Amino acid sequence: MSLMSDYENARAELVDACHKVYEKGFVTAYDGNLSARLDSERILITPSGKCKGEIEAADLLEIDYRGNLVGGRGKVSTEAKIHLLAYTKRKDIDAVIHCHPVYSTAFATAGEGFTRGVFPEVILALGKVPLCKYGTPSTEELPNSMLPYIEFSWAMLFENHGAITFGKNIKGAYYRMEKLEQSAKTLYIARTLGREKNLPLLKVKQLYNIAESTYGIKIDPRNRVD
Ligand SMILES: [Zn+2]
Repeated sequence: MSLMSDYENARAELVDACHKVYEKGFVTAYDGNLSARLDSERILITPSGKCKGEIEAADLLEIDYRGNLVGGRGKVSTEAKIHLLAYTKRKDIDAVIHCHPVYSTAFATAGEGFTRGVFPEVILALGKVPLCKYGTPSTEELPNSMLPYIEFSWAMLFENHGAITFGKNIKGAYYRMEKLEQSAKTLYIARTLGREKNLPLLKVKQLYNIAESTYGIKIDPRNRVD
């Protein structure tokens, strides 16, 4: 496959993810931003002030690793900073999705991250979902709030704001956002019925052992749930 068609595929996949997050209600109006690493010099990212439900391939912008516009026409989002932080700190991240999904954001607003073991599949797919301390959007406070977790996290909550997920590709980042919101919703409903039971530590350990021995999935010890 030529490099050019790789870039075209990235554009098509990012547009698809934009439409999905809007259809799922993970963003409203102009909220959220999605990006993908193109190469060592360029990142593909959604423009500011455009509804994700209406994004087309030609709307996407290309920026360099300092956030300068290098391709496309439009305004670079002030939240590009949080994407740049992820790409700069992590070589294994090639896609970033930031949304405001209702249930995840509700937990973030109540000041609660997901650090305990509740759902077996979520423990493996997301690991710990830490709550990043509130930072004013568009300032350095927001990327700085990610610093304690960025080296090992695949999903985070932003206090009083929303959520961010990372992937080795666009689909990976999208599915993490979907899984995060689904588990937040399930947890919310479980609490209306009483309160969720956390899995005993022994069962969590068993899960990590199976993941590692059967599927060869290595989970960073810092990202393991309590
Ligand atoms: Zn936001």
